Amino acid sequence: MSEKNNQANPEKPGAMNGALSGGISAAFGRDGAAEKVRENFRQMVAGDAAPGEWAYSWRRELNRGGFRAVDFLMEEVVNSGKCIGCASCVTICPTDVFDYRQETPVDTRTDACVQCVLCTEVCPILRPADQDMDALVQYGDNPLDEGYGPYVYGLYTRSTDQEILARCQDGGLVSTLLTFGLANGSLKGAVIGDVLPDDNQIGRHILAKTREDVLQSAASRYTYSPNNLALADAMGTDVNPIAVVGVPCQINGLRYQQNSAISQSMVKWLRKNVALVIGLFCSEAFTHESLDKLAEIIGTERRKIRNINIKGKVVVRLDDGEVREASLKKYREFARPACLYCTDYSAELADIGAGGIGLDGWTYTLVRTKRGHEALRAAIEAGLLETRPLSDEPRGEFLMKKLSADKKKNRPHPAQMPTYQERAAQAYLDPKTYYTKGPGAQKAEPDNE
Ligand SMILES: Cc1cc2nc3c(=O)[nH]c(=O)nc-3n(C[C@H](O)[C@H](O)[C@H](O)COP(=O)(O)OP(=O)(O)OC[C@H]3O[C@@H](n4cnc5c(N)ncnc54)[C@H](O)[C@@H]3O)c2cc1C
Ligand code: SF4
Ligand code: SF4
Repeated sequence: MSEKNNQANPEKPGAMNGALSGGISAAFGRDGAAEKVRENFRQMVAGDAAPGEWAYSWRRELNRGGFRAVDFLMEEVVNSGKCIGCASCVTICPTDVFDYRQETPVDTRTDACVQCVLCTEVCPILRPADQDMDALVQYGDNPLDEGYGPYVYGLYTRSTDQEILARCQDGGLVSTLLTFGLANGSLKGAVIGDVLPDDNQIGRHILAKTREDVLQSAASRYTYSPNNLALADAMGTDVNPIAVVGVPCQINGLRYQQNSAISQSMVKWLRKNVALVIGLFCSEAFTHESLDKLAEIIGTERRKIRNINIKGKVVVRLDDGEVREASLKKYREFARPACLYCTDYSAELADIGAGGIGLDGWTYTLVRTKRGHEALRAAIEAGLLETRPLSDEPRGEFLMKKLSADKKKNRPHPAQMPTYQERAAQAYLDPKTYYTKGPGAQKAEPDNE
């Protein structure tokens, strides 16, 4: 997979996929079997079939000899504007059918498709996780469940490493676990998000192998960074074991790849070599054009924006250290429309979740699995992290419950949601309020009474 194909395009705003604008059936229709699968799939989604059965629409066809799944995926997910950009289909494809541009896969080499159906199998937009996903994730003993996925305990953490503290977004938990893992040999690499050399608010993927790589990529970019593309670099060069850091859609994409019912060498590699999965809490990501808008709102030039942090409001640090603030309500106009198709705030399939809610300057840390617990405990015992109980700032837990519930509110599965084109026709693209204040809420009301 060539590097040039997989850079996010900094010139185009994310999520307004080029693919939406036309050519919907250009590739589609060349494989009649793919069209038949789509018809079956749509019937199952609209009918009485349980969501857990939807995958049989394509697995059945695979058993009958296969079909060109890329055509189905492009039509049902990408051209409908439902693709969240997790890049799972891109990294799992054994014959490099896809490029990745403007936050979506592009089916550049359809003739190379070997009809393995893996791209469809690993797409989180098409179906809920299989029931055996819990066995793959291996949650800790007697996990709690309060509406944001199983976890064993939560706490606030802060790095004791001054270099990390000077660069990180909140308490530096993420960079501390990664640098510690690389230093003690439990990790050889980490799939994380870096920035473009000429624009520090536009993310791109990187396979970090050194402390310096981790440090230069610390802190958050609120535009979409396709971290999972670096999985291909890790597999291609057999760097292992690795950690993976990502927002929930990316963690889901990774887990769907690891748990694929259709097994192949890359699936096995991911199962064996991903040692730690760190999920970043996420309400939404923003389009590239949002950066120009934000600069305009706070009366500065975009190139002067050094860091953005969202704390109920948008807190912007400029390159001279000055801090300015903007209304989140205003900025949210520029949330990625594709984020509607995401119901996971806290990365429910990660080993550890990390967010900035609650105590300022600390990372809200949610430990879900034994692996997560062991990585955290080792860093604490090495004196690299200090901790405080969540009760020191109860607002953190309050926000965790609220923001997770908001994201799940009234929503059906993404496969049952309206397409981008249908939402555009309703003139309502805000992903966060579509099902609370927008057209989705109106529809959901009778069911809730
Ligand atoms: C798009 C986005 C939305 C978020 N929304 C929320 C939210 O609603 N509520 C909340 O509590 N927290 C949110 N977070 C998480 C928060 O910003 C911090 O990442 C988290 O608190 C960890 O802080 P830290 O200091 O421990 O991490 P650090 O040590 O600073 O490490 C941060 C890591 O995030 C990676 N990263 C940076 N930008 C991106 C990106 N765009 N995509 C993927 N990886 C990236 C970096 O490579 C780095 O490894 C969001 C993060 C992102 C990227
Ligand atoms: S797997 Fe991810 S990138 Fe591929 S089509 Fe589905 S949502 Fe989009
Ligand atoms: S809201 Fe969901 S889809 Fe959007 S960036 Fe965050 S995790 Fe991904």
